[in-house]
This record gives sequence, C-alpha cells and structure tokens, in this order.
Amino acid sequence: MSGMKDRIHIPIDTRALEVLRAIEAAQESAWFVGGCVRDAFLGKRAQDFDIATSASWQTVAAIAAKHGWRVIDTGAAHGSIAVAVDGMLVETTTYRVESGYSDARRPDSVTFVDAIEADLARRDFRMNALAYHPERGILDLHGGRKDIAKGIVSTVGAPEERFGEDPLRIMRALRFCAQLGFQMDHATESALFACADGLGRIAVERVFAELSKLLLAPCAGRVIARYASVVAHACPELFSRSAAPSPDAWNSGAFERIARVLDAAPADRTVRFAALFCGIDAEEERRQANAGCKTTPAAEAARAALTSLKAPRRLTEDVCALVANRNAARPVQRETMLLLAARLGGDTAFMRRLCALQDAEDNADGITLPVARTEFFDRLVCAGEPLSRRDLAISGKDLVACGMQPGPAIATALDALLHEVVYGRIANDENELIAAIPSSAFSPACLPD
Ligand code: ATP
Ligand code: MG
Repeated sequence: MSGMKDRIHIPIDTRALEVLRAIEAAQESAWFVGGCVRDAFLGKRAQDFDIATSASWQTVAAIAAKHGWRVIDTGAAHGSIAVAVDGMLVETTTYRVESGYSDARRPDSVTFVDAIEADLARRDFRMNALAYHPERGILDLHGGRKDIAKGIVSTVGAPEERFGEDPLRIMRALRFCAQLGFQMDHATESALFACADGLGRIAVERVFAELSKLLLAPCAGRVIARYASVVAHACPELFSRSAAPSPDAWNSGAFERIARVLDAAPADRTVRFAALFCGIDAEEERRQANAGCKTTPAAEAARAALTSLKAPRRLTEDVCALVANRNAARPVQRETMLLLAARLGGDTAFMRRLCALQDAEDNADGITLPVARTEFFDRLVCAGEPLSRRDLAISGKDLVACGMQPGPAIATALDALLHEVVYGRIANDENELIAAIPSSAFSPACLPD
C-alpha cells in the first residue's frame, strides 16, 4: 500500500488548499481527486479542483458558513456541494463507499486510506482514479499514471460492467479522447461498442453536456469519425438519413467530411454543432438554398437532433440557420457578403459564424481562398460598410417624415436603398438617400405637384 503512495508535489491553487485544510480542521479526511490530479501529470494547470472527503455535504456546508464561503448545490443528493472561495469553485464529494463500509467516516488515518481506496475504485477511468494529498502524496492504485504516460483511456475494473452501471461513461470516454488526444484502450473500446445502446437510457441533458465538451475539443474530428455510430445511440437524430437529400448520400465518406470540417472549425459550440450536419455533398442543399427555401433537409435534421437533446433554444435556432444558409452565398465578394448580412438582419456574430463554417468546409475540401471569409467580413465591418437597413443614414421615421405611409412599404424602400448603396450607385448620405426614394413609394396625396 505505502509503495503506491509517492511524495510528489503537485501545484494546487491556494484557495482549493484552504478548503482541504478547513475540512481537515473539522477532524474529517480529504483528498484532491479527479481532473486536477490528472492534469498535473499532463503538465496542465487545473482550472477546477475536486475534493473527496469523509465529511457529509451538510458538514462541508457548515464549515463553509464558518469561513464565510458561499456554497452551491451541485448534487447534494449524491453528496456533492461546491464551495466558492474568492471566485474559485471547489467541488467536494463525500466518499462514495459501498454499503456496509461503516468505518468510512471514522477519523483515523488507516480508515481514511480505506475510504479513499473504495472511492477511487468507483471512479470511471484509471487516469481519473488518482488522489493527492499535500502531505500523504499521490495515491495511484489503478495505474493511472501509466495510462497518462501512454496516453490511454481505460476503465477502472471490467469495462462492460462499468459502462453497464453508468452508460454516460461511454460519452465521457469519447470526450476525454477528444480533449486529451488519447487513444482508447482495446478492451475499453470493444466494451464501448458493445454497450453503446445503453446510452439511450441516459438523461439527454447529460448527453448534451458531454457531447458539447467533445465537439469543442481539439481532437473532436478523429473521435467523431471513429465513434459516430456510438454517439448515434445517444441521439439517433444526429446522423439520421433525413439529413441527406438521398439515403445513398449518407455513407462513411460523410463522417470523414464531418471530421475534416470539425477539425477546421473554430472552437465555437454553435459552429461545431453545425459541422455535424455538413457531411453530405452539398449539391442538393445548394439547389434548395438558391431556390430560396428557408430550410433544407440538413437544417431540419439539425433541428430534430438539437430538440431531442433539449439544447438551449438559441443554440438550436443558430445551428439550424447556419446549416440552412451555409450554401446560400459562398463567393468571397463585398456585395454578396453585404447583401447576405442584410438578409440575415445584420447580425455580425451570426455572420462571423457562418463565414467560419464556410471557411471550414472549404478547408475540409482542400479549397484555399486568397483571403478567408472571416477575415474578409471583419474588414467590411471595420470599414463601416452597411450590414443592414439599420446602418443606412436614414431610418423608417425619416421616410414617414418625408410623407411615406407607415407600413411594410417602409422596409421595402429601405432595402431597395441599401441595395443601391451596396452597389455603389448612391452614397450612404441622408440627402442622397432621400433623393433616391422612388416616387412610387409615396402615396398619391403626398406626391409633389
Ligand atoms: P474536467 O477537467 O472536465 O473537470 P474531470 O475528470 O474532473 O474532468 P468531472 O466531470 O469534473 O471530470 O468529474 C470529476 C471526477 O469524478 C472524475 O475525474 C472521475 O473520477 C469522477 N467521475 C465523474 N463522473 C463519473 C462517472 N459517471 N462515473 C464514475 N466516476 C465519475
Ligand atoms: Mg472536474
């Protein structure tokens, strides 16, 4: 047992250390566990700290109150409560021990180790089953450091059993591979494919949270290309045939293209989710977009998938709009881009995402443009170009003041003026714009003699 412990020191944020010390001062035991210990061995600075402790969440809450720290219920039913110290959230979880482990909370050092031992055995992956204490050192009972050194994700104990207990671990395994660039251990991978249908039992909110992390990770493309069939068990709508104009279009090449688009896309959740619907050769999509269809099969598939994942409404709408418009106007040209921006209501954040998605698709297809759309669009913004009718030097109110009838004709007239400005036929200047209003826009009573 003692041979497993090493007096290695890893950097711990002083605020997290304060929480550990406060728990110990109350005669309870505590260890740092999970991501913060793993990340130390990866040479990464941990962003958040998890503590496993003999203290119940009520005890932790009382300790926090004594120190004037705020607590947040992050799962009190499972013994988890987060303590906020100077803007740092430290997650604490009471040792997860098997029933009958009655000594778990007895404050002597031997039992402390027994309790953390049982706790570590119930963690998901070996690399996550490491514990650290500033005086007692590293506790590595499952070969966690070996996995980290080799870059491998493997379960603690028999993978089929562990995935059967909690199928969310399947999504977590994929997520960690994508985040850390690790490979799946052979037995873990076989079990993951065999147990994938269990993902259907998992709350969609948890699936969505893990999938979001996976998609934002540096190796998302590789993981999606290899494990799309697994992810499809968590959300069948994601890779459904309805995303394709014809059933034949949805083949393995589609996954490879998705992977390339993901890898080329910026780490933006909206763009990365949209990339999942860019698997298909876009001919039919393009035809429909040019025909002015508001939606496309891929955009409809995106809506079905994100709705079933209970994704935030705004994300769903933006992803659908990105997918529907991705083929609408691809030329990197001032007029095309300005009119597209106007059609999309002058939403610059959305335009940047659309440009990023289109750039990523070109990149995936080996097309190199002299200047990326994202950069080109930013130049237009910096140059103060009009991105919507709101950017014109006159407003609807001005048109009414000039004698136009309030109503939809106002918007039509402004759009017509914007069109003229974009094509450089008139300047974006109040007098020029008013002079350019077609006389037909005025009601007969207002027409000059
Ligand atoms: P991150 O850097 O993303 O926070 P993490 O490893 O800390 O990575 P968390 O979700 O914060 O991941 O979980 C903290 C720890 O709790 C994990 O390292 C793991 O030991 C354990 N854990 C989390 N979820 C599970 C699960 N479903 N089954 C078993 N153990 C889990
Ligand atoms: Mg964590």
